Amino acid sequence: MTCRHYWNPTDTGFECADCGATTHACHTCQRPADTANEACTRCVNRYHQTLADIDHALAHPMAPILHLKATRYDTTTRGGGDSMPFGIGQELEDPEVLAAQLSGTKRTVLELTRNPKTLGDALKNWADMWAEEHGHTVTGNPTDYLRTMTIWATNNPETSAWHDHWEEIRHIRKRLWHLVGLNPQYEPTPCVYCGSTLKREWTANGLTDQIICTGRDCERRIYKDEEELARLNRTYIKLAPNKVPDAHLTREEIRTVYPKLKRNTLNVWIKRGHIKPADQNERGQDLYRLDDITQRLREA
Ligand SMILES: [Zn+2]
Ligand SMILES: [Zn+2]
Ligand SMILES: [Zn+2]
Repeated sequence: MTCRHYWNPTDTGFECADCGATTHACHTCQRPADTANEACTRCVNRYHQTLADIDHALAHPMAPILHLKATRYDTTTRGGGDSMPFGIGQELEDPEVLAAQLSGTKRTVLELTRNPKTLGDALKNWADMWAEEHGHTVTGNPTDYLRTMTIWATNNPETSAWHDHWEEIRHIRKRLWHLVGLNPQYEPTPCVYCGSTLKREWTANGLTDQIICTGRDCERRIYKDEEELARLNRTYIKLAPNKVPDAHLTREEIRTVYPKLKRNTLNVWIKRGHIKPADQNERGQDLYRLDDITQRLREA
């Protein structure tokens, strides 16, 4: 039976508490490496997934409109964008605005750029830089070339500038997904269960019906669709008087919990001081304790 290894950190890396085997730390995630290579399999896989995500964005229907297709197939170096037709959706940036953003934040050009060409060029430059080290010429898709060179690059981090590359490739992926519109869409309402942001993902067939909670510890995580979310919202609100009696609510919110309570009745209670505000929200609206309303309704 092979040992599953229980790694303890040592001065030079890790040692297994069960079988005494040793290994080095992955230079990318610092966890115990599972092979003799400098980067662990998990990091290599993550890198390949990032490249696959970039390809996915470049194959998106929006890619040709943004002139991103050239990144994939055109290997000739072109100067500037003068040969490009007026591109719909092509948001070339104002160099001065970009410079101001760069000096105001700790971010890099790749994190801020709205110019697809900048991203395509960065990708090509990396492929060319690695190719130069080997006397290769990149003739196809730069991501294909980067993929074939992964083990060399991770095992020669200085020559390949692997750590910078790792950072940059992830920025490129993120910006490309943003430009073609693949980034998740955030829902206007928070999660009923945990209050975290809800999102829907874009797929090849458009936006998914499924709504995902971004809260890591959320007991719900996934809503089948908008209908389910709305239904659970209503159910939750009905349970509110028992579940969260101390909740502080606005007059409007009170009427969502108790739809049969007339606006006028509530106003009279407040005016006569039967119900007193417990707090104010950031918009200066009075908030009332839910249980005070519940008690008053029982008496009425
Ligand atoms: Zn072991
Ligand atoms: Zn790793
Ligand atoms: Zn949640």
